[in-house]
Amino acid sequence: MDDRTTLPEPTWAVERDAPPRRNVWQAMARGIRCRCPSCGQGRIFRAFLKVADACPACGEVLSHHRADDLPAYLVIVIVGHIVVPIALWIETNYAPPVALQLALYLPLTLVASLALLQPVKGAVVGLQWAFRMHGFDENHQDDIEVGSVVNIKVAARK
Ligand SMILES: [Zn+2]
Repeated sequence: MDDRTTLPEPTWAVERDAPPRRNVWQAMARGIRCRCPSCGQGRIFRAFLKVADACPACGEVLSHHRADDLPAYLVIVIVGHIVVPIALWIETNYAPPVALQLALYLPLTLVASLALLQPVKGAVVGLQWAFRMHGFDENHQDDIEVGSVVNIKVAARK
């Protein structure tokens, strides 16, 4: 038997076992509309900022999300980039009394922040779902414990 005719069994391949790609922009757009990133039908939230454990329409498990504080940070950045330029422009051109400015900017900031929190959190959950982050990857293996030592053999070069 000639050993040169048989190729070795591939031990590693990126694309062979990879699950199908998910459309990131579609998932984020569905999240902005507070809909399930998978089907776009079921509501993603069961309360104001509480993500449902699973989609009521398609059953996609949504409890794997780890949005944490990212939506709040993003809302601060977005609202800050809207309110601060408006405040600077009005102050530069009209210089109204401080009380009037506070009466305008504080409610505007509050309302804009509350209005954006749900869509931004939905988009973050959609992003995590599309990239199969955290538990959204159905092929995720929990065989590596946090803090465990992984032995890596490195071939010595001559
Ligand atoms: Zn769904």
